[in-house]
Amino acid sequence: MNYCEKCYNLCEDSVCEFCGNKKLRTVSADDYCFLIETEQTNGEMICDIFEQEGIKHTVIPTGNGVRSNFGLSLENYEIYVQYKSLDLAKEIVNSFAEQAVSVYKNELLDNFEKWFIAKPKYEEKWKKKLGLKDINIIEFFKSCVEDAEQIVDGGMVLSGTVGGHYYTVYSKKAVILFNSVSFEILSVEKA
Ligand SMILES: [Zn+2]
Repeated sequence: MNYCEKCYNLCEDSVCEFCGNKKLRTVSADDYCFLIETEQTNGEMICDIFEQEGIKHTVIPTGNGVRSNFGLSLENYEIYVQYKSLDLAKEIVNSFAEQAVSVYKNELLDNFEKWFIAKPKYEEKWKKKLGLKDINIIEFFKSCVEDAEQIVDGGMVLSGTVGGHYYTVYSKKAVILFNSVSFEILSVEKA
């Protein structure tokens, strides 16, 4: 397996598919390799597990397009681990993501009767944005949560008085932002 020293990616080819670097070398056990880009809160939890498991890792903060659409300021984390730990790290990330989705899914669905949209005009706006007509939008959001591929805790809500966390639900149909305490649906984007 080849290794690109510029972007820390593993490459099967002799040219890096990400940056075009042609001066690749064979990867060695201690080289740090790109593992995952994830939201900050998620990233911190994953790094905690790595520390418990004794997996060396480094983190680079980056921006996040979906989050800027929602007007949130938190960053993403790029996480890197050594080549020798890469397979174990991938397993940990996968089982972490699966567990997180089912925990958040149950929390949201158990409180379904509390879900609300603050203003009728938001409902109109979101229906338009998602191309929905003659549909109960809350029921539509419920189906999105049930089918969610990823649900991420985006950190504490700092505005308003209810507190809570931002839960971002990623489904094939829409990306939905919830408050984890009031269960207000705060914002909706096309998937
Ligand atoms: Zn590269």
